[in-house]
Amino acid sequence: MAKALYLVQPKITKIMEYKVDKPKNNEVLVKMLSASVCETDWKIFEGEVKVRYPRVMGHEGVGLVIEKGEEVRDLNEGDKVIIDPNVYDNTCPLCREGKFNLCIRGGLLGREYDGLLREYIVVPEYRAYKIPDSISIEVAPLIQPLSTVVHAHKLISIKPNYNVLILGLGVMGLMHVQLSKLQGANVIGVSRSDNKLKIARELGADLVIKPEEFNEVKIKELTNNELFDVIIDTTADPDLIRNSINVLRPGGTLLLFGISTNNLNLPMYDLYYKEVKIVTSRSSLPGDFLDAIRLVSNNKVKLERLVSKRISFWEIGDFQELRKGVEFRPIIFF
Ligand SMILES: [Zn+2]
Repeated sequence: MAKALYLVQPKITKIMEYKVDKPKNNEVLVKMLSASVCETDWKIFEGEVKVRYPRVMGHEGVGLVIEKGEEVRDLNEGDKVIIDPNVYDNTCPLCREGKFNLCIRGGLLGREYDGLLREYIVVPEYRAYKIPDSISIEVAPLIQPLSTVVHAHKLISIKPNYNVLILGLGVMGLMHVQLSKLQGANVIGVSRSDNKLKIARELGADLVIKPEEFNEVKIKELTNNELFDVIIDTTADPDLIRNSINVLRPGGTLLLFGISTNNLNLPMYDLYYKEVKIVTSRSSLPGDFLDAIRLVSNNKVKLERLVSKRISFWEIGDFQELRKGVEFRPIIFF
């Protein structure tokens, strides 16, 4: 028997025992090393996103392969792996098209399936990606959210001369800052937090502003009279998104990356008149994990600043405490 952190009903978690299965065929048994907690987990915790209870929480985590089934080909005992939390069947029409992230029978660990906040998990080899030892387990769980940012960037086009506006400078926003800079863009970040504005500058943002400075006159002044080619929202704040359309150039792209269960009320005539390309992005694909691992191991994307709290799995106690005073990701060690 091993222990896992279950959400037994909204806002109530409990550590309970479960039976650890033996890995069969193409499966590996992974001993969890570290995991991080994100906004989606908090929405599940609050009950805003419904799940079947009890549910083991968590979908960002890394571990060590300690046993493997007889058909496992590439992974070995002792390999450090990041787990792809997307469950997919490989056989539905969307999987056959390569859109595993949209699998009709698919789901996410910690939401439709039991998640990663547990001592051991059995996963198929194709959903565990080997990571080099040079990537510390202090930051490695963030490779999963980075893979979703990589995925989103493949759905839009950022050219080296582009002006890119990034709304919100939390973990996701700061990853978008770094990827946009790697693509050569001029990047302006927007956040209410002085600390986040400071970190965005350190991670490469050319300019940072607060939402109250966010108007057409100020933007034109900052960008030499140009508007934005691409706007990336990570806030899911309807007012901020609506205002941002005023500073998007005709033919520009609006990437709605922030996730919310709220409705957006957008100016349809402006969207039509500017021929705005609205893009949404969900989760990530296997290849995005490979790119994310390489970006981190080559030090092109820095994750150290995106972690705010470190805690042992055995000392979690009240799960809500994890969130207190935390600007970025809390990391849990097993
Ligand atoms: Zn499928």
